[in-house]
Amino acid sequence: MGARRVRPPNVLGVSCTAGPACRSPSGAAAAGNDVRRTEWRNFAWDSVLTLLRHLEDVESSGFTSLDEISGEYWTAAARTVSTALALTQQGVEFILKGLICRVSPLLLIATPVRDWPARAASENVAFADFKTVDALDLPKLHDSVITPPLPPSFVRTYEELRRQRNALLHTIDKRLSISAREVLIAVLETTHYLLGARSWLRLRGTSLDNSPEAVAFSPDFVEGLVIREALLSVTLLERREAEKFFGYDKKRRTYICPNCSLAYRHFADRYAESAQLQPNAPSSVRVWCFICEDTTIVRRVKCTNKDCKGNVIYEDEGWCLTCGRQQDDGAT
Ligand SMILES: [Zn+2]
Ligand SMILES: [Zn+2]
Repeated sequence: MGARRVRPPNVLGVSCTAGPACRSPSGAAAAGNDVRRTEWRNFAWDSVLTLLRHLEDVESSGFTSLDEISGEYWTAAARTVSTALALTQQGVEFILKGLICRVSPLLLIATPVRDWPARAASENVAFADFKTVDALDLPKLHDSVITPPLPPSFVRTYEELRRQRNALLHTIDKRLSISAREVLIAVLETTHYLLGARSWLRLRGTSLDNSPEAVAFSPDFVEGLVIREALLSVTLLERREAEKFFGYDKKRRTYICPNCSLAYRHFADRYAESAQLQPNAPSSVRVWCFICEDTTIVRRVKCTNKDCKGNVIYEDEGWCLTCGRQQDDGAT
C-alpha cells in the first residue's frame, strides 16, 4: 500500500481555485479568496447605490417631487433590493465559511458519515455534494472554534439580514426603503468586523478599478463614483454609524477635500466635502478626509472672500476649504 494521503477537499461549494494543484485544506480555503468574498457584497452595494443615485438625480433635477414617486419607485425596485439582500447574506455566509474552513473544512459538513455520498469512500467528491451546516448555525459554529467570538452587533445584523431576506422573498411591503438602508448597513457592518475596520471604501475602490466602468471610462470616473457613493451613503447613516464605519462625525463641520475634489469636480462638477479638522480644535492645522484618508495641511486665517466665514485655507494651493475660492494673497 502506498503512502496515505489526505484528499484536498473542495470547499464552499466550489472547487479550489488551484484546482488539481491544490494539496492542502488551506489552499482549498483560498476558494473564499479576497475577490470572491468581496464580490457578493459589491454587487449588492452597487445595486442599492445605483437606486439611490437615481433617486438623488431625480431630486436634483427638480422635475419630479421625491415624495410623489418614492413609494412607487421602491415598489418597482423590490426585486433589486431583495436580490441585493440575498447577495449580501450569501457574501457573509462565504466569509464565515471561509474562516471556519481555515480551522477545518470538515466542520462545515452537517451530516454524519452514514449520510455522506457513497462514492466519497472511493473518489474525490465535490464539497457541494455534501450537506453543509445551515446558515443559521454559522455564527455559533464560528464562535465554537474561533476566538474572538463575533460581536453581538454583527450577529444581530446577520440574523436581521436573514429575517429580511426571507420576508422579502415572500412579500412586497412598504418597508423596502428601509431595506435599501439595511443592505448598506449589512455590507458595512460585516466588512468592518470580518475584513477590517473602516475598510469598505478601499475595497470598493479596488473592485471598481477592475470593473467594466474603469475600462469604458477613466480612473477619474471610478474615483468620482466611489466619492459620490461615500457621500450618498453617509446621508443614510446615523451619526454613530458614520463614525463607526467611516470615522466621520456627521455633527461636525465638513471641509472640501482637495484630493477628492480633483476627481469629483470632473465627475460631478462639485467639490467633495468630506474632510474634517483633526483634531477638532480652533487651532488645528490639519483636515482629514474619510474617503481618500488623506491629511491636508491648512492655515487658520480668515478667507478673503467677504461672503465666506471660513478660516481653513489649503496651505499648498491657497484655496479656502469652505467656499473653494482661491485666496487673493496667494498660497503663502
Ligand atoms: Zn479625500
Ligand atoms: Zn472661503
